[in-house]
Amino acid sequence: MSGTFVGMPAFPTAAREALADSQLRHNLAHATGTIRAKRARVVAEVEDWEELRLTGAAVKERALLDLDTQLVRLEETLTANGATVHWARDAAEANAIVASIAKAHAAEEVVKVKSMVTQEIGLNEALAADGIAAWETDLAELIVQLGDDLPSHILVPAIHRNRAEIREIFRSRMAAAGRPAPEDLTDEPAVLAAAAREHLREKFLRAKVGVSGANFAVAETGTLVVVESEGNGRMCLTLPEVLVSVVGIEKVVSRWEDLGPMLRLLPRSSTGERMNPYTSTWSGVTPGDGPQEVHVVLLDNGRTRALADEVGRQALRCIRCSACLNVCPVYERTGGHAYGSVYPGPIGAILNPLLKGVGHDDQTDSLPYASSLCGACFEVCPVRIDIPSVLVDLRAQVVDAHRGGVPKPEAAAMKGAAYVLGRSRRLSALERLTGLGMRFARRFGPTAWTGARDLPHAPGESFRAWWQRANGGKDDA
Ligand code: SF4
Repeated sequence: MSGTFVGMPAFPTAAREALADSQLRHNLAHATGTIRAKRARVVAEVEDWEELRLTGAAVKERALLDLDTQLVRLEETLTANGATVHWARDAAEANAIVASIAKAHAAEEVVKVKSMVTQEIGLNEALAADGIAAWETDLAELIVQLGDDLPSHILVPAIHRNRAEIREIFRSRMAAAGRPAPEDLTDEPAVLAAAAREHLREKFLRAKVGVSGANFAVAETGTLVVVESEGNGRMCLTLPEVLVSVVGIEKVVSRWEDLGPMLRLLPRSSTGERMNPYTSTWSGVTPGDGPQEVHVVLLDNGRTRALADEVGRQALRCIRCSACLNVCPVYERTGGHAYGSVYPGPIGAILNPLLKGVGHDDQTDSLPYASSLCGACFEVCPVRIDIPSVLVDLRAQVVDAHRGGVPKPEAAAMKGAAYVLGRSRRLSALERLTGLGMRFARRFGPTAWTGARDLPHAPGESFRAWWQRANGGKDDA
């Protein structure tokens, strides 16, 4: 792994490579199966789960349909609370803002709360180019970072690694990044967690600047919210003198009371817990307590493009719980790297094309097809994103984006079929050649089609020929 998704092949190629890795499939099946069962148990405890899903969807939808007003209100409340608000159109702008804040404090390193959005914009790589080291403090993110690897799951970025692999990464890589792993490191989860804790402690105590994302941003109160399981996030949010939070503009909710349903839906859907172990909220600066300089970078990076898509805009409701990944039969077999993005699985298959637009690169255009359309993702989604419908709509957009020019084999085949089916004489002429055509297609047909499907054998006689020979079935009777 190179530590970046740039230049990843299209999904079918990447998926084929992943499918050949039996250890990966074993790790994924074990991990997703465990999380699935846990989630199903705790969701079944909530009698009004369907109503809760509807409420969660409505909270996000309301904020999205009024996004311009809500964002201005959020800026006002954050500013009144003592935070400095920045607006970033894209990844480059957001990265430059964070780098300039770190440089203003002569910081050579920052500690980070696990955050999808900072991975989306490639913040670590951008800061490294400016001579600033960004240390991940979430355990799974630390494993990915030390292994020079890429995240493969929204919630459990190192889901593709087993305990023995993690021990080896800690043993061989920790020393180069700070405090080395202890000599007697085993692959027991508690021992591995203790090694990570020791390694991270010196970073928490040393760093002047912390960087976070946010799960929610409350416009009414100017409050940012991070939920997590380990407490590392809270250390990053409270210990450094300066805190920079990069927040996608879709994270805004209107009122404080909107948090209630969201904080019930998220932990049960993601980790299968009734409550998040740590829920941190912060609203600007509190003199003498926590960071004394707080910056909030409100990031677009394709979100307004997604918002303009009437079918696809529901993807912005996503609260990154990862439930859709854990039930997806395609994800379970290919893992997250095949999606070529920090957003893998069913949500990645729609969010990436919506954020980037279709028709520009093969990798993004391949994602709406990375699904069996079984619908399991919609059934588990706590905010009722109808992922299958968005996938189908995006497939149509991909086809439309490639109209004109040299037609693809599938489009040419469809044109040919329309011509043949338009006249019965043409069809009967073709039927006489079907056997020959099938043999030809099996041998020379487009491998994108025949490589993954068995072509049926042509019957010895067409229905039309049988009808004539048997006098409509009377002579055969
Ligand atoms: S699409 Fe739904 S199920 Fe998937 S991560 Fe987002 S909120 Fe969770």
